Amino acid sequence: MTDLFDLEHIWHPYTSMLNPLPTFKVKRAYGATIELEDGRTLVDGMSSWWCAIHGYNHPELNQAVTDQLQNMAHIMFGGLTHEPAIELGKLLLKITPPSLDKIFYADSGSVAVEVALKMAVQYWAALNQPAKTNFITTRSGYHGDTWNAMSVCDPVTGMHQIFGTSLPNRIFVPAPQSRFDGQWNPQDIQELTQQIEQHHHSIAALIIEPIVQGAGGMRFYHPEYLRQAKALCEQYNLLLIFDEIATGFGRTGKMFAWEHAQVEPDIMCIGKGLTGGYMTLSATLTTKQVAETISRGEAGVFMHGPTFMANPLACAVALRSTQLLVEQDWQTNIQRIEKILTQQLIDLAQLDYVADVRILGAIGVVELTTNVDMKTLQQQFVERGIWVRPFGKLVYVMPPYVITDDELHYLLAQMSEVVKNMQGANANVLA
Ligand code: PMP
Repeated sequence: MTDLFDLEHIWHPYTSMLNPLPTFKVKRAYGATIELEDGRTLVDGMSSWWCAIHGYNHPELNQAVTDQLQNMAHIMFGGLTHEPAIELGKLLLKITPPSLDKIFYADSGSVAVEVALKMAVQYWAALNQPAKTNFITTRSGYHGDTWNAMSVCDPVTGMHQIFGTSLPNRIFVPAPQSRFDGQWNPQDIQELTQQIEQHHHSIAALIIEPIVQGAGGMRFYHPEYLRQAKALCEQYNLLLIFDEIATGFGRTGKMFAWEHAQVEPDIMCIGKGLTGGYMTLSATLTTKQVAETISRGEAGVFMHGPTFMANPLACAVALRSTQLLVEQDWQTNIQRIEKILTQQLIDLAQLDYVADVRILGAIGVVELTTNVDMKTLQQQFVERGIWVRPFGKLVYVMPPYVITDDELHYLLAQMSEVVKNMQGANANVLA
């Protein structure tokens, strides 16, 4: 099943080259279906890590790419511009926080985060506060795998010890504990308050994933945390950066997760679902005030400019994907998915080796009490015709929004069966 060349020569994400996990060769994908080379079909529960919001092989997205291809696949963005970047920008400004006014296109989520961090540092430098170069963030966060993005990821799950002193030292506070659907506990904000009071002279910004901490633990926290964090940032002169790379484009039930708290950031990163999962593109948006301050600084410019900035193919498909989303009644659709996720998953909370079940929008999470054996579990899921990739203690789904009721019921029934069968085979399945 696993391709031998692939096994021996191609490095997959977070994988050993001595003992690589098996990979399944995909022939094609359409809607919420992944078709393997051997003919088996899987119902997709992952949207290719949050991206493929409209499913795979979407006729209108295919058309957007094909049309753009007739004009140009790529053109440099230095000194030149194009319709896809402009039209996409207009649409993005309509659906993102009203105070955001300037858009910097970049290549991937991690790069969007790098850009956001650089903006914050240049902002304070322009205001003659060159000491404000550090960042504060919460534990259990995830912001990407490039150097500075990694430095603000959770130090444990981000394995900071591997990189030792080569990684910049950031200020971490405990992850918010008050649940999204629970009571707000004022103690939650105490450590953030203390650290900001103590270190604000050296901090450029607070960076945080609003409402949903994704790859750092799939945790959903209380909107009050963001409201109080924003007040602290204003009081102590810190910029507030929202990483909406995973939460954006409807996934949490709002177009972007800041809307749950009605708190606007100074800088916001988007990516993943931006192109409907067709290709890599991200953007860092900021306010007129931040952008103009940077531009008035000594450098006079913002110092970043990737080769594939605002790639026209990516912008064209992002424009069509975002139009598709806003043209439809996406909120009702996310509510449909949320309802089925709740109906089908909530009972798993009764199992004694399930620590928690939580659902928000089109995200369903089953947290176990111990780590899962990814290899065994993934194999079992594939044998049952579903694509779910667990990590750590988490078995979770975030399906494409086009998934039908029947497909979603099938996905969740099979996933639940595997989780329920863990009890008997505990020794094998739970590491
Ligand atoms: N921020 C968040 C919140 C993410 O979930 C991710 C990707 N999982 C990233 C940043 C990094 O994005 P990319 O993988 O496109 O670099």
